[in-house]
Formats: sequence, C-alpha cells, structure tokens
Amino acid sequence: MIGAPRADGACIDTPGPHVLLIDDDPSIHALVGAMLKPMHTRMSSATSGEDGLAQLRLQTPDLILLDNEMPGANGLEVLHWLRADPVLRVIPVIMETGSESNKTLSACFAAGAVDYIRKPFTAAELRARVGSVLERQRMLGELTSAARLDKLTGLANRTLLMDRLTVALAHARVDPAYGFTLMFLDFDRFKLTNDSLGHDVGDMLLQSIATRLQRNLRSTQSTAREAPGNTVARLGGDEFVVVLDDVFEPDIRNAIADRLLNALAAPYQLGTHTVQSSASIGVVCSRDGYETPEDMLRDADIAMYEAKARGKACHVSFTTGMRDAVRDRIETENELRDAIGTSQFFFMHQPIVSLDDRTIAGVEALARWQHPVRGAISPAAFIPIAEETGLIVPLSEQLLREACAAFMQWQRTAGVNAPSIISVNLSQSQFSDARLVERTLQVVQDAGMRPSQLQLEVKESQIMQQRSSALVLLAELRSHGIKLAMDNFGAGYSSLSCLQEFPLDVLKVDRSFVANACRGRDYAALLHAVVTLADNLGLRVVAEGIETEEQLVLLQALGCAYGQGFLLAEPMSAADVGALLSSHGGISAGHR
Ligand code: C2E
Ligand code: MG
Repeated sequence: MIGAPRADGACIDTPGPHVLLIDDDPSIHALVGAMLKPMHTRMSSATSGEDGLAQLRLQTPDLILLDNEMPGANGLEVLHWLRADPVLRVIPVIMETGSESNKTLSACFAAGAVDYIRKPFTAAELRARVGSVLERQRMLGELTSAARLDKLTGLANRTLLMDRLTVALAHARVDPAYGFTLMFLDFDRFKLTNDSLGHDVGDMLLQSIATRLQRNLRSTQSTAREAPGNTVARLGGDEFVVVLDDVFEPDIRNAIADRLLNALAAPYQLGTHTVQSSASIGVVCSRDGYETPEDMLRDADIAMYEAKARGKACHVSFTTGMRDAVRDRIETENELRDAIGTSQFFFMHQPIVSLDDRTIAGVEALARWQHPVRGAISPAAFIPIAEETGLIVPLSEQLLREACAAFMQWQRTAGVNAPSIISVNLSQSQFSDARLVERTLQVVQDAGMRPSQLQLEVKESQIMQQRSSALVLLAELRSHGIKLAMDNFGAGYSSLSCLQEFPLDVLKVDRSFVANACRGRDYAALLHAVVTLADNLGLRVVAEGIETEEQLVLLQALGCAYGQGFLLAEPMSAADVGALLSSHGGISAGHR
C-alpha cells in the first residue's frame, strides 16, 4: 500500500512518493513529468476522470494532481467519487485549474481538495506545492502510523491490517489477474512460556517471532505491477497475520507456509532461556470469493484451529466443511463448560481382577459425559476438548472426588471384599498443572483415604512430551504414597527402558498386545518377556482388554497376575460394583 505510513516496519516494499496525474491534455503529462523529476517522484498518468478512477482501483498513490476541466467526468465529480470511497478519500488532491471562478474553487475545497495550482504553472511553483503537500502527508502519516502499529513489535496492528485488506480486496475485485493470501498464525506454546518464564520473556518471544516473520517474508518478492506489498500484523496475544501480496497459487503459498513453519520452529534464545515454540497456520486466499476482511480473518482463524486439531506445527488451507466442524466444536466446548459441576459427568467403573482367584483387586474409573441431547459421549471425544480449553483441571478434580467417594463407599459396604485400589487416568495437560500434587492429596484427604489407595494411570507418550518435568511430578506423587501405573503399554511406540526409568508400580499391557499374543507365537514370546521383565522390576502386570477365554488362559500361562476386560467385567456403575462386591467379592468367569 503505497500511500500508507512508511515508518511502520510492516510494509515490506516501500517505493518513493507516487503521484497520479489526471489530465486530458497529453502535453501536460510530459511537462509535469519533467518538472517533478528532480523530486524523485514516481508518476502515473490518466487522461480522463474515468481512467483515473479505474487506475485508483489498482493503486493507491500518495498524491493526485487533478485537472478540473476535462471532457466526461470533470475534476469536481472525480473529487466527489474519491470522497465517497473509504480508502481513496485519504489521498490528498491538488486541483489544476484554468480560469475557473472562485466559486468553483471553493466547491473543490469543500469536496476535499487540499490545494490548487493555476495553469500555466512554473516548475518551481509545482514543486513547491507538491513538496508541501507530500511533507504534510508524511508528517500526518507518522502521527497516524503510531496509532496503527503494535507497540511491542512495531508490526501493523488490527486497524492497519484491516485497511490493507480492504485495499487489497478492492484491487482483487477489479483485477482478475490479482489475488493474495492471508495466513493466520497462532503459537503453540506461547502461553506456557508466558506462564512459566514470565511476561518479559513472553514479550521477547513475541518480538523474536515478529523479526523472523519479517525476515522470512522479505524474500517473497511480489511480481504485481503495483503490488501493495506484504503485510505482517499482530492482532494481540500470540496471534499474527501475514498478508502475501500477489500470491495465490496453492504451491507457492504452501511453500511459503512451510518456510515460515521451519523458521518459527527453530529454538529462540531469550536472554538466558532457550524456548521452543512452533506455529499453527490457517490459510485463505482472496480468490475464494471473499468480499470483506472480516470474512477472510474468520475463515483463516477456523483453518488455524483445524491446524491445531491436526497436531499443531502445521498449516491448513480453509475449506467450507471446516466451518460446520468448528461450529460443532465451539458448541461442545460451551456445553462442556456448562456441564462442569453437574451430574452430567460421572464414572463407570471397571474391575481389575486377580487372574488367580478372580477377586476384585482394584477398580478403574472411566469418565462418561451424559449429554442431555446427544446421549453418552466417550472420554476419547470430550477429554481432548476439556484439555484444549483448560477445563480438564476442574473436571478432573470433580471426577477424582467422585471416584474417591465411590471407593470409600465400597470400603464401608463390602468390608474385606472391597478393592484395595481405585485407579484414575491422568490427562496430558494435568502434567502442566503446577498444583496437581497438592490438589490430588487434598481430594484423597477429604475422602478419608490413604494416598496408597489411589492409583494414577499415565501413558508413556504423556511423559515423553515433557519428560524431565513429568518425571519430577511423578516422583513427587509417588513420594506421597500414590501408586503409578503405566497405561496402554505396547500400543504404538513403547520402550522397555522406560519401565526402569519411570517411577512405577504397575504396568498395564495394552489390549492390542493382548489380542496379538493369541495370533502368533512371536507376540506371545514378546508378552512373556514383558511380563518377566516387569516381574523382575517389581511391577504388577495388568493385561487390558481381555475379551476371550483363549486370551485369559494364555495370560494365566504367561504368568500375568491381573487382568481387565469385557470377558471379566465391563465398565459398570458404582452401585453395580458395590452389589458385585457384596454378593461374593469376586468375578465368576464370563461375568459381564
Ligand atoms: P484406557 O485408560 O485405556 O481405558 C480402557 C478403555 O478400554 C476404556 O474405554 C474401556 O471401556 C475399554 N475397555 C475395557 N475393557 C475392554 C475390552 O475388553 N475390549 C475393548 N475393546 N475395550 C475395553 P473408555 O472408557 O472409552 O476410555 C477410553 C480412554 O479414555 C481411556 O483409555 C482413558 O485413556 C481415557 N479416559 C477415561 N476416563 C478418563 C478420565 O477420567 N480422565 C482422563 N484423563 N482420561 C480418561
Ligand atoms: Mg486407563
């Protein structure tokens, strides 16, 4: 955007002052061109009011020299058109007049002209008038640019971004050969940095991000004849927007997005701290029928949301199907928020059974959401949403209280038959909750339980994501007597070394491992090795997902002490567990 303030660091292409001359007399064009040459201005020419307006749809000059007397639309009419346009109205206009009356001149001023010059004029006179208007414009630009820049990074702020998008969309409307791309960026671990290292480091991270974005876009030269240039803007927090001028081919915009992802993923050295922070990028293109900047930003935001849902640190181009998915998701988030603290959340309980004597050694609490309209929603669907929104902390606490209360109720009613452990799953984001240990111990204490009666289930992948801090947290939980189980061992990547390294009491072998053991001797041998190793390390082994007699028999033969699965008992209500315990304290084969 050539007419925009220049000292903002946000406009990457910054050519010199640009003057548009609208005059029907060709000899004036040559004359004015020669007169203004020493001022290093760039001239463009229109020979009628209509031609001038057509050009103004494609470019935004710093100044217009406008002849008043022209065939077709005269100067005054052109002025009225300019003033009616939200973008063009800010361009200063100097009228060229002949022998017009003062009345006509004052009509021009009333219509927004800032100055006039009578023909014939000398070079000195023209340069003085043009120079003074450009200088005034420059000073005005400096004053207004401060209000249009993000103070922290010096990038364009939302106001300036919206102006530029308005101009670029107007350009795209009249020039079918033109198009541009908008990228919405959100940083995946900014909040964590801000919360854990403080706002000063968070600010440094934002400034470094701004610098990297600018550096990596500078090489994206525009090829458009009168390209407004790329724009980098910060909307607030860790939300940035990049506008790529004259970029619309999917291959090119994907290559640029890849380059940005790479550049942004490299570690940031912020004072004494080294921080890692990848971006999620949502991409939209003006050629997909966009009319307003707001619509483009909304869809880029949706695509960015999708990029996060696909595992973060990636870019996703918007498709209309995403709109419905996001609407559903936002609705679910709101409903989840409203449901916290209500009885819509509850646990089903699945017995963990001693394979020797079929007694119930423990119970795993499995969360459920009974949605008033959609019915039962599985934890695999709502736990990730609770994590994403931070609702996991109150939800987990609510569920933990309920699980402990049920456990204590069984102790009272089932006596010696009562399970010795209640097992509850931890979610990934609970590892970032600095108060997890404190909260957990408080709930245990309130329920009147011993910490050793609570078992927390964690997955290897959860520990690996924040390895050193997770290990400290687990060690602390265990130092208070809380039992720890490695959940879903053998699903996907699992290393045997983690069994020794992590502070564990129990190893839960994933049901896929159990199912495979019956399908081939190699798998059975592997399962045997895992059971033996766990035994040697003093870990209890629980086989998950036992569904058939064959599996049960094999697991017993391999020396696996405990099991869980539909064959033994499906997840059931707390009352049903109570009834089962009271009746005979154990599980008969095939109990479902
Ligand atoms: P998980 O911890 O591996 O829990 C076992 C899952 O396997 C449960 O699914 C259970 O119903 C199912 N299951 C048990 N026996 C069998 C069987 O014989 N065959 C088959 N096919 N499945 C069996 P569910 O209840 O849908 O839970 C899914 C996952 O959601 C859990 O996997 C756990 O990772 C997570 N989850 C459940 N409750 C909570 C919770 O309160 N907090 C957190 N953070 N995660 C939870
Ligand atoms: Mg589990």
